[in-house]
Amino acid sequence: MSDAKPEFLQRHRVPFDGQFSVRDFSCDPPAGTPSKKDLEGELDDLVNRLDKLQQRLFADERYAVLTVFQAMDAAGKDSTIRKVFSGVNPAGFRVHAFGRPSELELQHDFLQRVVTRLPERGKIGIFNRSHYEEVLVVRVHPEFLAAQHLPDVDLKRIWDERFESIRNFEQHLARSRTVVVKFWLNVSRKEQKQRFMSRIEDADKNWKFRLGDLDDRERWDDFQAAYESMLRATSRQWAPWYAIPADDKGYMRTAVARILVETLEGVNPEFPTLDDDRRRELQEGLKRLEQE
Ligand code: ADP
Repeated sequence: MSDAKPEFLQRHRVPFDGQFSVRDFSCDPPAGTPSKKDLEGELDDLVNRLDKLQQRLFADERYAVLTVFQAMDAAGKDSTIRKVFSGVNPAGFRVHAFGRPSELELQHDFLQRVVTRLPERGKIGIFNRSHYEEVLVVRVHPEFLAAQHLPDVDLKRIWDERFESIRNFEQHLARSRTVVVKFWLNVSRKEQKQRFMSRIEDADKNWKFRLGDLDDRERWDDFQAAYESMLRATSRQWAPWYAIPADDKGYMRTAVARILVETLEGVNPEFPTLDDDRRRELQEGLKRLEQE
């Protein structure tokens, strides 16, 4: 295990006391952030460390890791996932992107579709959007709720009830040794505009732009309020949220990688220790190979 202090866990963790303020949160990297080039070097090192930690996780067979990414459009979820996991054995992780639920999924409770995609022990599961959409986009657009076949919805209570269900669900996961790590990538409204403009102006990025993206942009304040409620209600010791400034992609990716590395170093998965039988087996293997 590394001697380094889990500095980024402390720096970015959303406190568990329900006091977090989205308004007070800066989308820029903190003062003293290294240069772009230094951040790139740091990220390369973290990517390698993450690969080694995943190997230990797999060999250890006791823990699974679930990482959740939530953000406004164009905050950089996809590119962060691509970059941070670029060095990890592809057999060791799986990404699931959650879009609008299908009619079949809507026949179930809102957690069902994420339950079927949870990582098994030894693996890292990555949710690009997640069950949290149910207290974000669905909260901002109640018409989605209307499609959920729920009788007698009490709009005053439903969000608190969902928070409670989510807290209980994630606590159950943690007790079952799934390590839950959640990232809120916070892009500013100004930076989102720049990124949307470049999606329109740069032919290679045109495919990423949908006019509908601007509808959610117009509801910016409602989304921020929904994020704040979510972060306050569901950042807990067993499943912390990390609030990451997203206007500088280099800093964002390095911070995400560092938090994952620090988390896994805290879990400290171990290669299985050799008992006498295994030691004898290895010796036997060596002898036979030498005799070939
Ligand atoms: P992304 O924007 O992440 O690249 P898409 O363009 O496929 O991916 O968008 C997915 C859309 O699905 C988003 O607008 C998201 O808000 C929506 N979505 C995800 N989960 C739900 C849900 N439970 N109910 C309604 N809409 C959802």
